[in-house]
Amino acid sequence: MPMPIQLLPPQLANQIAAGEVVERPASVVKELVENSLDAGATDIRIDIEKGGARRIRVRDNGCGIPKDELTLALSRHATSKIASLDDLEAILSLGFRGEALASISSVSRLRLTSRPQDNDEAWAAFCEGRDMAVALEPASHPVGSTVDVEDLFFNTPARRKFLRTEKTEFNHIDEVVRRIALARPDVTVVLSHNQQVLRQYHRMKDENHSGRLQQVAGRRFAEEAIYLDHHEEALSLRGWFSPPQACRHQNDIQYMYVNGRMMRDKLLNHAVRQAYGEALPDDRQPTFILYLNLPAHDVDVNVHPAKHEVRFHQARQVHDFVLGVLRNGIAQVLGTEGTESTG
Ligand code: ADP
Ligand code: MG
Repeated sequence: MPMPIQLLPPQLANQIAAGEVVERPASVVKELVENSLDAGATDIRIDIEKGGARRIRVRDNGCGIPKDELTLALSRHATSKIASLDDLEAILSLGFRGEALASISSVSRLRLTSRPQDNDEAWAAFCEGRDMAVALEPASHPVGSTVDVEDLFFNTPARRKFLRTEKTEFNHIDEVVRRIALARPDVTVVLSHNQQVLRQYHRMKDENHSGRLQQVAGRRFAEEAIYLDHHEEALSLRGWFSPPQACRHQNDIQYMYVNGRMMRDKLLNHAVRQAYGEALPDDRQPTFILYLNLPAHDVDVNVHPAKHEVRFHQARQVHDFVLGVLRNGIAQVLGTEGTESTG
């Protein structure tokens, strides 16, 4: 006999939501750092212990959260980033679902400490148990926020079992941080593992951010890559690509950002591959770091809970724009401008 219908306790509801967003420690890092960026942070410190299974701590110098909003920050469906359907249809922030902190705190021991600007008091918030009631206590913290996530999946053993080795989990975190470092060269990001500083991406002043490029993607790519910057009406494509002969054997440098958000999008990948066309040697992979920008209301980011996917309202137009700009750039490098067939 089925059970009668009942409302799920908040913790269980949040754990179900966490199933979609919190796949592994790296997903926690992504959500927390995106929150820091949305808060306007210019300095973000990430401390990891034991591949993130023991601890993930993200500290920022962003706008902070007032004491009377801390409880909401940990509650599901509570966000400062959208307030209406109009906002949802033109997302400018990285977050908007109001789910990350609630989800993460349902599958870990999470503590949020924050001090807002023009306030000399800091408070810490945490929640526990089936109803996830939030407790507050005074704390000490500079302006900004720290989220401390201990013992991820301690109460969801099935999930905990899926954690890989410390090294593998840390590599995933490293990659997430690399993507963010490429998206935001104007922000300092420091990553430590087991008390050792492993990455220091300092904010750069140079205009096209080639310094950050070299730091993240390596000197070889930075030296060989071609810079492009093309605007056409509301669309723009900027970034670097390797000439076909200099493309890598691995597909490890394939970064495509849509309005500042890293994507693995089939449509865009197809456009890039087609742009290289026959010029790409068989044993090489397209090698690129590209930033596509378009009006926020022309792209839907509310497709996937982890926001790995987007939907373009004018998919064909976007595809052809990327294809055209990149194909042109490649033709220029090869000196085959004008001899390339179109279509
Ligand atoms: P979302 O980012 O989708 O709004 P989250 O659960 O990630 O949902 O965060 C909930 C809210 O908590 C945010 O809307 C924001 O107001 C606040 N918040 C979270 N992290 C930070 C931070 N590092 N600095 C300032 N505010 C934060
Ligand atoms: Mg968020």
